[in-house]
Amino acid sequence: MPCQRSFLGRNLLAATAIAALGSATLPSWAASQSAPGVRDVDHDDNIAETLAPPLVDVSNASPQSALHVGPGESETDFTLGNGVRVRFLPAVDCGWVGVIASYDVGFIDDPRGRPQLAHLAEHLRVTGASGGQEANVRLAHLNRIGSANAETQPHFTYYDYLVPSGELELALRTEAQRLGELHLTQADIEREGPRAAGEASGLAVASPQHLHKFALMAAVQAWRWNETHSNIVTGLGKTPLNIAVDFIDQHYRPDTLTVYIAGDFDQTRTRAMLDATLGLVEEADEPYVARVEDWSGASRDLRMTWDLPATVAMASATPPTNVRHRAIVATSLMVRLHMERLKIAVVDLPLGTSRLWPAGVLPLFVAGTTKPEVDPLEAIAALSRLLVFEAEDVTTAHLAMARQLSILPAQSLAPERVSADARRLAKMRGISESRAIGMVVLQAALNEAQRASMNSLSEPADGEEWLRTLVKFGQTSESGTVVISPRILSENQARQEPRE
Ligand SMILES: [Zn+2]
Repeated sequence: MPCQRSFLGRNLLAATAIAALGSATLPSWAASQSAPGVRDVDHDDNIAETLAPPLVDVSNASPQSALHVGPGESETDFTLGNGVRVRFLPAVDCGWVGVIASYDVGFIDDPRGRPQLAHLAEHLRVTGASGGQEANVRLAHLNRIGSANAETQPHFTYYDYLVPSGELELALRTEAQRLGELHLTQADIEREGPRAAGEASGLAVASPQHLHKFALMAAVQAWRWNETHSNIVTGLGKTPLNIAVDFIDQHYRPDTLTVYIAGDFDQTRTRAMLDATLGLVEEADEPYVARVEDWSGASRDLRMTWDLPATVAMASATPPTNVRHRAIVATSLMVRLHMERLKIAVVDLPLGTSRLWPAGVLPLFVAGTTKPEVDPLEAIAALSRLLVFEAEDVTTAHLAMARQLSILPAQSLAPERVSADARRLAKMRGISESRAIGMVVLQAALNEAQRASMNSLSEPADGEEWLRTLVKFGQTSESGTVVISPRILSENQARQEPRE
C-alpha cells in the first residue's frame, strides 16, 4: 500500500500552525518498498558494514579550503568550484548527520507527454548502479546504518541521507557518484517504472483524496503543453532509456544542486570531504536553462483525462507578480483551506498551494477529488469560490493565523530544542530517542531546502495591507479550472496511442 512519507516532508515545527495545517507531501519512491526512510529501528542495533574505501583520506585533506570564502558567502554558506551550493546547519553532540541534496528540478519540469518522468528519474538515481556498485547495493547499506530516500516535489527533488556522524563521507560520496557515475539500463526502468506508477495507482484506490500531487502533474501537462490526456501510470516502465538519461543529464548537474548538511559534524573536515567528493564532479558544459515560470495556462477552463480511476477538480489562478503579494495571497489561501475545507461537501479534503508548494513557481490552485455522486462542475464552482476573497472573509481569526504563518523562521538546532523535539517525536512514533534525534536534524536540513522556495514575508504586513492585497488579487488575477476524469485504456489500446 502506498504511504505518504510519514515523517519527512511534514514540518517538525509541530508547535507552529504550519504543521497543524498539514503539508503537501508526495509519496516517496519508498512507497513501494518497506519505507526504509522511516524504519523505526534503533541504529545501535545495526552494525555498520565497511564499504569500499573513501576516495581520499579526509584526515590528510587540506583544511585550507574551509578558509576560502567568496563574496556574499560564509563558512556555513558557500559554493564549491563547480557550482554546488552548500549550507551547514550544525547541531552539537547529537551523533547524527542529516544530508539533503536538493536539485532544482521537479515534476513541473516533466516534458510534454511524459508526466512522471521527473519522479522516475528520482527512482533511477536512488537505486541505479553507481560508483562501481550494482543497483540497490549502496542504498541497502545506507538503510542499514541509517536511512536514505528521496522525494519528488513539484519544483525540486531531494535525496536524503541520515547517517551516524562517522559516515558522513559515505553519504556525500554516494551523492557524488549518483551525479557523476550513474550507469542506468533499460532493466532499471523496467523495475522502477512500475514502482513509480504503482504509487499513483495504489493511492487512487487506497486514498484518492490525496491524489492532488498527481493531479497537479497532469494539470501541468495541460497548462504548459495543451495536452488533453495524461498517462500517469501507463507505459512508465517502458520509457526509453535515452529519454530518462537525457532528462537526468539535463537537470542533474553541480549548478542545480544545493546540499544541506545538518547535525553533528566537523565543519573543516566536512568542507574537505565536499571538495573531495561532490566538488570533483565535472562542471556542466552548457549554461543551465532554467524553466520558464509562465502560468498563463492556468487561467483557462480545461477538461482532460488521465489513466487513474478518480476525478479531480481544480480551480487555479495566475499568481500576483509581486513576491510580497504572492506571500500574502498564498498564506491566506492556505488558512482559508484549513478553516473552510471541512465545510465543502463536494470534494474530499481539498488541498491547495501551500508554502511548501510556492505560488509563483506554481499557479495558485485548490484541488480536490470529487465524490462519486457529485457533478464535477459543482465541485469546480465550490473550489473556485475559495480563490476569491471578499473583505468579510478576512476575519480577525483569519488574519491572526495568516500573519503568524507569513514569516517562517529557521528551525532551531539548539541542543535543548533538538532534545525536546526528539523526545516528542520518539513518543509519538514509538521509536528510540537516539533515532528520533537523527530524524530531527534531517528534518531541519529538509526544512531549509523547502524554506528556500516558500512564500514568506521578511517584514510583517498589517491588516490593511493584507486586505488591500487580497482585494487587488481578486480584481486582477485570472482564474481557470481543470477537471481531470478517468479514461483508462487497456495496455493494447495504450500501445496504439504511443507517447511521443
Ligand atoms: Zn516514488
